[in-house]
Amino acid sequence: MIVAHKIQLLPNNVQSSFFSQACGVARHTWNWAYREWERQSRNRNPIIIDNYGDVVGYEKRKPVDDNGALIPPVSGLALKKEFLALIDDQWPWMRIVPSHIYHQPFADLQSAWNRCYKGLAEKPVKKHKGKAKDSFYLANTCITIEGRHVKISKLGQVRMREDLRFSGKVMSARISRTAGQWSISVAIEVPDVVPVHNQPTVAVGVDMGVNTMAALSTGEMRANPKALSKNEKKLKRLQRKLSRQLEAAKIKAGVAPGQAIPRGTRIEFSGRMQDTKLKIQRAHGRIAGIRSNAQHQLSSELTKRFGIVAIEDLNVKGMTASAKGDAANPGKNVAQKSGLNRGMMDVGFGELRRQLDYKAKRTGTQLAVINRWFPSSKTCSVCGVVQEYMPLNIREWRCPSCGAQHDRDVNAAKNIKRIGVIQLQEPQIQKEVKRVGKLNPIRKRVSA
Ligand SMILES: [Zn+2]
Repeated sequence: MIVAHKIQLLPNNVQSSFFSQACGVARHTWNWAYREWERQSRNRNPIIIDNYGDVVGYEKRKPVDDNGALIPPVSGLALKKEFLALIDDQWPWMRIVPSHIYHQPFADLQSAWNRCYKGLAEKPVKKHKGKAKDSFYLANTCITIEGRHVKISKLGQVRMREDLRFSGKVMSARISRTAGQWSISVAIEVPDVVPVHNQPTVAVGVDMGVNTMAALSTGEMRANPKALSKNEKKLKRLQRKLSRQLEAAKIKAGVAPGQAIPRGTRIEFSGRMQDTKLKIQRAHGRIAGIRSNAQHQLSSELTKRFGIVAIEDLNVKGMTASAKGDAANPGKNVAQKSGLNRGMMDVGFGELRRQLDYKAKRTGTQLAVINRWFPSSKTCSVCGVVQEYMPLNIREWRCPSCGAQHDRDVNAAKNIKRIGVIQLQEPQIQKEVKRVGKLNPIRKRVSA
């Protein structure tokens, strides 16, 4: 099993500028590969243009060259060979960093396209300086970790904030920058052990929410950390300050207030603005840290305490898209819903699920992911009757059929637990749920 540990780095000035350069090399390589991939695949499969002049796709035929030989498909490996042949001539400055840094982007691009072709991800995009996340890859041959130091070839020893948590073979590492902080994520191969949970039959259902981070079927609540909203307020204040400063700078540059900046106009960034920008970056970093800490605490607690953890398969991406609707079917209450959805994304549901996934494997917990169309909030967890109407602002309700008093989120968590346990016991139902997408065993029982 491969596990990863992300550790903050404490580089000196020389080392951090080396890191910046390495990120530049990785970004340059990616963008070159990205452009070549687009160009070569266009040459290989000519584009189809419709009557309106819009590109509607690529011609699907086996491309041949002038001699009738088949042109091979574009691949990361082939592009890498072309790139390496050019490097000494065109970009000799790249040689100051370990070669993996400009080798890896080709493999990354290949797998990004593979995921895209399979429909698992969006098309890969160009990495813009200052916008894309700065990072680069290091293979295990050019790093050695000893205590609180990582030795990187062509650079030397860099201090780390803590020791490596796992012992095993280091497979690779990636160094990245978030909010001005450098960190290294090390992938380590640890021996496979099949863990057995000490409470294998104790189950919990978890309803993830916006205001409370999670409600458990035991009735316990896990609130968002208090420091979060405090820091978010601070961030908003800084963002307002920056936009005020930007407006002032625009007026100075001759742009009317409230107007968009015309192309080609240079806005002078004052020292104070740079200062605000840096503070904004730091605030973002702090918020991310607080949130990640809370998520790790929750996922560790759940997997340690419970042999079965049931969660809802909330498709965060789908939720943000749904509120807007489309041209034929515009959404209602878009602003209200997208506010909620943004909050939802903030809770970082996807991240929490990822953590539960890998931590469950370590503790031997079974993770049950139930279908997101199951009406967990509308179903009474006592009698199983489904309510037709349950607006988001109702936090507590009484079941009209059995009279049970419910907290909205705890009731949902109880339903999630029950369905999760059924799913684990009856793989058939699980299959069925996947197939039809919205099987609701409880509703069936009620109507029968
Ligand atoms: Zn009821």
